[in-house]
Amino acid sequence: ASTAKPVDVDPSKLVIHKTTDPKSLVDPSNLLFGRNFTDHMLTIEWTQTEGWRTPTIQPYQNLSLDPATCVFHYGFECFEGMKAYKDKAGKVRLFRPDKNMERFNKSAARIALPTFSSTALIDLISRFATLEERFIPDKRGYSLYLRPTMIGTQKTLGVSPPGSALLFVIASPVGPYYPTGFKAVSLEATDYAVRAWPGGVGDKKLGANYAPCVLPQLEAASRGFQQNLWLFGPEQYVTEVGTMNLFVAIRDKETGQKELITAPLDGTILEGVTRDSILSLAREKLAPEGWRVSERKITMGELAEASTEGRLIEVFGAGTAAIVSPVRTISWKGKPVDCGLKENEESGEIALRMKGWIEARQYGDEEHEWSHIC
Ligand code: PMP
Repeated sequence: ASTAKPVDVDPSKLVIHKTTDPKSLVDPSNLLFGRNFTDHMLTIEWTQTEGWRTPTIQPYQNLSLDPATCVFHYGFECFEGMKAYKDKAGKVRLFRPDKNMERFNKSAARIALPTFSSTALIDLISRFATLEERFIPDKRGYSLYLRPTMIGTQKTLGVSPPGSALLFVIASPVGPYYPTGFKAVSLEATDYAVRAWPGGVGDKKLGANYAPCVLPQLEAASRGFQQNLWLFGPEQYVTEVGTMNLFVAIRDKETGQKELITAPLDGTILEGVTRDSILSLAREKLAPEGWRVSERKITMGELAEASTEGRLIEVFGAGTAAIVSPVRTISWKGKPVDCGLKENEESGEIALRMKGWIEARQYGDEEHEWSHIC
């Protein structure tokens, strides 16, 4: 047996097997989220004794796994969601990939899967995205959604740390979330089910966190709501909306001070990259205009009171898929809470400005350290 130290991911060893059967491109206007995939996939196997093996880009293909593989039984799976964009000069760019890699490593570590060098994986993902460049439409709103995934591959029914794992990255070209412009959504506040709790794993991007969220989402949909809003605890803290973080803009009751609020990172929300970007931009651009920017808890009661008193300025969700998603109403205890939009408005001003500022950095219109040129 080898006594060598397990090795980290090594991009210099990358092997590329190109497809001999390239796919034809789907008309960008017909793209449905996560349905079309590119020609190739990036794969890296890991074993406890060797560490990370040769990174390989190979034709997109099925995986073949023994039915006893631990991912099927105990949920040894975590993933990321990030995008590659094409700029005006045709260069491929990633948006804050370091943030996704940091979160991916935290998720993997929490379920006893191996960690890896973030910069090494960013390098490999950059080469993969560049190879698939023809799938990225060079139009505003379009991008290549990247899905880094890690699974435990050990064949065992024993509950134990996987002795082998597979990291793979697949890519799906996607169009704008709102093809015809913003459409404000109506939410149903879910108080009968809990998505995440302090000390739990809701702040990690584990596949196991997502399947149980579909039923409350379906229930909300059956009553005509596009998304559900996750509340937490007897205080009914507002946490997240569907698979997005939530931002609330209110005016203070006594002083009239404007405040942009999002839930703090206390284990009850996912650490969204968009959330972090919005907080940064708000501190950079809204604070000088007199806004207070807060990571603090806010209850559904406080939000509803601000609405009744006309102090609720706007509410929006934030995530990689839509960037921002304006909210029109929240149904709470069977009554609608109005979120400040006028009848003919589909977005508030803050959500609209945030989308513009973030896109400028994603598409490289504004040169910024958040944009990683592949
Ligand atoms: N919350 C949840 C539960 C999510 O799945 C996501 C999507 N990753 C987000 C928030 C938003 O995170 P991000 O801005 O990194 O896409």
